[in-house]
Amino acid sequence: MLELTQKGLYCPAGDFYIDPSGKVDRAVITHAHSDHARRGGQLYYSTVSGEPLLRARLGKNISVQSFSFSQKFQIGPVTLSFHPAGHILGSAQVRLEYRGEVWVASGDYKRDADPTCEPFENVPCDVFVTEATFGTPAYQWNKEADIGFEIYQWWKENSLRGVNSVLFAYSLGKAQRVLGLLEPWAERPVICHAASTPLTDCYRAQGIRLAETRCFSSVNAGEEFFGELFLLPQSFLNSEQASVLGKNYQTAFASGWMATENRPGFSSYDKGFLLSDHADWNDLVRTVLETGAKKVYVQHRGNGALVKHLNKLGLQAFPDTALVPKPQSQLELF
Ligand SMILES: [Zn+2]
Ligand SMILES: [Zn+2]
Repeated sequence: MLELTQKGLYCPAGDFYIDPSGKVDRAVITHAHSDHARRGGQLYYSTVSGEPLLRARLGKNISVQSFSFSQKFQIGPVTLSFHPAGHILGSAQVRLEYRGEVWVASGDYKRDADPTCEPFENVPCDVFVTEATFGTPAYQWNKEADIGFEIYQWWKENSLRGVNSVLFAYSLGKAQRVLGLLEPWAERPVICHAASTPLTDCYRAQGIRLAETRCFSSVNAGEEFFGELFLLPQSFLNSEQASVLGKNYQTAFASGWMATENRPGFSSYDKGFLLSDHADWNDLVRTVLETGAKKVYVQHRGNGALVKHLNKLGLQAFPDTALVPKPQSQLELF
């Protein structure tokens, strides 16, 4: 049903790609992150809640057909439907049915609670193509932690000393999740980078409750801040605008990478919050088993630990390179 090509996952029966790179006629999009939603598609297929984010990212004038979760649609002889992936607002797994066989391509997903997106849905299938960003047992975390409260406490402590707090977060998904988690706690607006503002507006327009924000673009020259929380991309510190943070500020990063000592930039943050938009090791294994799939292909597979573990559990599991069509994989040998 699916092949792995240079442009990404391809379905020959329906002549469409899932999250392709480069120019294609039909692009089925799991979610609006830039490693999944790229320019160059003639026609995009999206979830209804993902469409505004897709347009905010790729431009208002792209051609999009959008579908509600579970709504069936055809591309050629293949029947498709989107199912919530729990990753960011509108993120979907793609279910494909053709000649009595069901495949599911997971896209990015997580099982943790998140007030800013639709909760993950288990979709039974014959073949499951799973992501595995955190595909080693080193990545496991506590699901009960109230990260919103932890971030608030850190902000409050710094604030009492008149020190600004800078939390680095991707401008789509992570930023809004942090704002959602802070919504019950925040006592004043969070100052957010201008890149996240239109995306945050998309979330609010769909009724997602977020902490109050102030867009960085409204900051006046010479304005001074003491004890505020800034939600920014990491590159901000290298910009001229960084001077508004003052000399004395605290930094933190919210990511699943915080689960290990090898995390990127380990020594460069004052604090780390273990907050991931991807499934951890236990949830990857659990999810694969819950689909009931007999065959599993693993993407972004790290060191291959997940493939090995699933094989041990008696499943037929392969790295996604096993989906490269034969003639091409033979070529790769040379
Ligand atoms: Zn993503
Ligand atoms: Zn991704």
